[in-house]
Amino acid sequence: MAARIIDGKAVAASIRARVAEEVSAFEAEHGRAPALATVLVGDDPASHVYVGGKRKACEEVGIRSLHHELPAETSENELLELVGELGLARDVDGILVQLPVPESIDPDRVVAAIDPAKDVDGLTPVNAGLLAHGMPGLVSCTPAGVMELLDREGVELEGAEAVVVGRSKLVGVPVARLLLGANATVTSCHSRTRDLAAICRRADVLVAAVGSPELLGADAIKPGAVVIDVGVNRTDDGLRGDVDFEAASEVAAAITPVPGGVGPMTIAMLLVNTLAAARARV
Ligand code: NAP
Repeated sequence: MAARIIDGKAVAASIRARVAEEVSAFEAEHGRAPALATVLVGDDPASHVYVGGKRKACEEVGIRSLHHELPAETSENELLELVGELGLARDVDGILVQLPVPESIDPDRVVAAIDPAKDVDGLTPVNAGLLAHGMPGLVSCTPAGVMELLDREGVELEGAEAVVVGRSKLVGVPVARLLLGANATVTSCHSRTRDLAAICRRADVLVAAVGSPELLGADAIKPGAVVIDVGVNRTDDGLRGDVDFEAASEVAAAITPVPGGVGPMTIAMLLVNTLAAARARV
């Protein structure tokens, strides 16, 4: 059986087109475009590429992009000061501090200093807490993108067995919470999980967010499962997910490719969150 390919690029493009229309309606109504402030500390090449992609995506849909680039020697206090100023700035709707920050800076302190109303990455303790309590807030972009893909695919989550591999604050934990909120029966796996493949094989919906190339093979896939591969791993053979795509495609009903699956959704959901933050502030 060849699985259906879940085309994250196409779904993301349709979301971006919708956001562009809504941004222009927002601007017509309020006399200004929503604005996202990006903060980049240091010279990590991958972070520069990621922030560049986010800024370009903003500009394409009419969201103003305000960029702050700080040297690697920036102190934690200086960064906290900037984050505080952006929190107070009337013309800033969203704040995104690109992680990782240099080792001399505690990322948790910086994230906690972001105004929760402008926390378009959904990473502050306030927004994580709202999600944990099943209350509305800004949800982090990659988990929101995973849920959007499942929704667009028409995947029935109520009562489904969902297995999430990975329990990071950024992806695994919020995805598991969102699946629970959608009334799936959720199992969270991590590096200490015994017999990972057997647990994954129970899943009607399998979400892999590990960071280990092709960790999950055909033996980890239930026939007819929907597989969402969040992993992005650079290998000598190019980008690979956490799932062995070729092998899993023979067993699953539907699967996201890497690249072109979850990745494009992350940026699309950042745009959605920035617009939502702007609307909530007027
Ligand atoms: P992370 O913070 O390193 O977390 C990885 C998780 O995987 C941890 O919970 C870890 O368990 C678990 N794990 C590690 N080895 C395992 C194993 N052998 N078996 C089962 N679980 C294992 O990573 P992350 O930030 O969540 O990112 C995960 C992946 O998603 C990465 O490849 C990252 O590049 C990708 N990602 C993609 C996007 C996108 O837009 N497409 C966005 C974010 C992240 P412990 O907790 O026990 O250590």
